[in-house]
Amino acid sequence: MLDYQTILDEILHEITPYLGEGRVASYIPELARVEPSSFAMSLMCVDGSQFHVGEYEKRFSIQSISKLFTLTLAMQLANDSLWERIGKEPSGTPFNSLVQLEYEHGIPRNPFINAGALVVTDVILSHLQDAHQSVLEFIRTLCAKDDINFDFSVAKSEEQTGFRNHAMANFLKSFNNLEHEPSRVLNAYFHHCSIAMSTQELAKSALFLSNGGIQPWSDAPILNARQTKRINALMLTCGTYDSVGDFAYRVGLPAKSGVGGGILATLPGKFSLCVWSPRLNEKGNSFAGTKALELFTTKTKLSIF
Ligand code: GLN
Repeated sequence: MLDYQTILDEILHEITPYLGEGRVASYIPELARVEPSSFAMSLMCVDGSQFHVGEYEKRFSIQSISKLFTLTLAMQLANDSLWERIGKEPSGTPFNSLVQLEYEHGIPRNPFINAGALVVTDVILSHLQDAHQSVLEFIRTLCAKDDINFDFSVAKSEEQTGFRNHAMANFLKSFNNLEHEPSRVLNAYFHHCSIAMSTQELAKSALFLSNGGIQPWSDAPILNARQTKRINALMLTCGTYDSVGDFAYRVGLPAKSGVGGGILATLPGKFSLCVWSPRLNEKGNSFAGTKALELFTTKTKLSIF
C-alpha cells in the first residue's frame, strides 16, 4: 500500500530547489502579481481518499485548464457533431498559433489550443444563451462549490490586450467556423480562462475522468465511458501544448495545463492529480509542476504506461 501523503511531502521537499526556475506569465499584469514560488499538489482517488501538500486551498487563474471543462460541456451538448468543426491531432505549434488555421481551412487542430477552444465556446453558445454563466455553474457543480467565480479583472485585461485571440476569432469567422459574433465568443472565452480555483477543487472537479464519466463522490453521470476515453486521449495527445511528447515521456499521464501554472492530470481507474506552481517553462507549462508530476509517477510507478 502506497503512503501517498509521505510521497507528496517528499515531492515538496525535493521540488523546493526548483521553485525559482522559469518565468511567471506576464502578458497581463494580473497574472504577474502572483507569488512566483507558490506550490500546491492535490491527489484525489476514486475510492474517496485525498492527499494534499502546499497551498492546496489557494485559488489561482485556471486559464487553459478551463478548456477541459468547456470541452466536457460541449461534448454533453453536441456530442460527435463537434468533430465536424475541430480536429483531434496535436498541433506541434504554440497554443495561440494561427498558422495551421489557414491551410486547414479554419478547422483548429484540436480543442485544447486557443482556436479549438473558441470553436468549443461557439458550440456552447449555440445551445445555451449565457455561455459565461453556464460554464461557471457547470464547474461549480463538478466540484460542489458554489463560490467559485470569475476574476473579472483578468477577463477584462485579456479582452483588452488579447489581440492575437481577437485575430483568431475573426479568422475562424472568415472560414464560417464560428456561428456567433467573434466578440461574443471571445468575451465568454476570456471569462472561462479567468476562473479561479485551487488544486483541491480542480482535482475534485476532474475525478469523473478517472471514473468512466461518473463523479465517484456524488454518482452524478457527467459523460459516458466513450466520451471520457476520448477526453483522456485528447489530454494525452494535445493537453500540454507543443510539449506533449516530452510531457508524456516524463510524466506518462493525460493532463491539461494553463499559463496560470496549474496542471491537471488523470490516471483512469485510479485518481486525478493537480499541481500548481506559477513559474512556467518556455512552452508555457509549469516548470516545477511538470517536475513534481514526473517525481510522482516515478516514485509511485503509477502512470498509464
Ligand atoms: N488566456 C490565455 C490565452 O488565451 C490562456 C492561455 C493558456 O493558458 N495557454 O492566451
